[in-house]
Amino acid sequence: MKYVDEFRDGERARLVAARIAAEVQPGRRYAFMEFCGGHTHAIARYGITDWLPQAVRMIHGPGCPVCVLPIGRIDQAIHLGLERGAIVCTYGDTMRVPASPAAGPPQGGQHPLGGREPQASRGAHEALSLTKAKARGADIRMVYSAADALRVARENPQREVVFFAIGFETTTPPTALVIRQAAEQGLGNFSVLCCHVLTPSALMHMLESASTHGPGAVPIDGFVGPAHVSIVIGARPYVPVAERYGKPIVIAGFEPLDVMQAIWMLVRQVNEGRAEVENQYVRAVTAEGNRTAQALVAEVFERRECFEWRGLGEVPHSALKIRPAYAAFDAERRFGLGYRGVPDHKQCECGAILRGVKRPDECKLFGTVCTPENPMGSCMVSSEGACAAHYSYGRFRGVPVVAAA
Ligand code: SF4
Repeated sequence: MKYVDEFRDGERARLVAARIAAEVQPGRRYAFMEFCGGHTHAIARYGITDWLPQAVRMIHGPGCPVCVLPIGRIDQAIHLGLERGAIVCTYGDTMRVPASPAAGPPQGGQHPLGGREPQASRGAHEALSLTKAKARGADIRMVYSAADALRVARENPQREVVFFAIGFETTTPPTALVIRQAAEQGLGNFSVLCCHVLTPSALMHMLESASTHGPGAVPIDGFVGPAHVSIVIGARPYVPVAERYGKPIVIAGFEPLDVMQAIWMLVRQVNEGRAEVENQYVRAVTAEGNRTAQALVAEVFERRECFEWRGLGEVPHSALKIRPAYAAFDAERRFGLGYRGVPDHKQCECGAILRGVKRPDECKLFGTVCTPENPMGSCMVSSEGACAAHYSYGRFRGVPVVAAA
């Protein structure tokens, strides 16, 4: 297979679907979580669940970086743009994530994130986003890469420029690189608000959390493992997860045939009582991953003790912070930022969806109040979000088609 069309070939998909169906044991049920938002998107876009036997259920996981970003972190970025006069650079989807519904502190008072709250800076009880903050005068800029943010800093030597860095292990190396470049170039006006998170820690946390074992538990028989993340970290870091919790993990590419083959491999592992890490995505993922990228990340970042994930709460050792050697480029230290956790919109079910407890169409706001044009929660923002994927490709499923006379 050389070309992407071959990974989307309907005939081959039919064959793999038949193999999965043949492999499924009578009376047995299989629940697999696709951790990564890219897989959630592929499953929705290509209607993969329609190809699966009823006994195989796919559960959306928390692997969309925009979706798991907690409101408190968006608030920090907005604060830097609106109250501290910084140019805030970030990726496009991040700009639309709803922020805190609270108006912040009493006007003119001490801001909980650091610094003074200026008079009349925000309307009372208005939910902001970085896009809305931009409309209110904050200098928020969408960038396509960390390198773009560094360029903005070079072009604006009189201004503080903060790169609001989010993402899993895939986007961490470019952030590490620009921090090192900023140090080499002596850029005194550049810093990073680091919100990079780690996949294996989240997997372990999910398997240990009450939501998988307690009442209303979501049984998970195995995971479709991330594609791009695994290119960087390799297949090896998942081995302790599979061994400790007895859950098979199959790393898969993002094309529909990749995902279907991974599901087939998972069904076989479950049937055979195996809990191994297998690599379906051999054309890109190795056991070791990208050693150069790993070394760069290790030079610039270290693990946080704890980090809040939307939906998962505080997850130990699940995110990165900037090492003391690069402290000058750490926006949290530079601006004396504190962190304040903020609950989601009362009716938003993003938390339950990110834990695999609910489906998007079980949220009362889905498709009515909350749409991709007007997202109320983070899962409706990015195309990798479960709600956005279901809205784009699945919301009319089950609606009977009436032929015109
Ligand atoms: S539909 Fe909107 S409000 Fe409901 S869970 Fe999804 S993102 Fe949150």
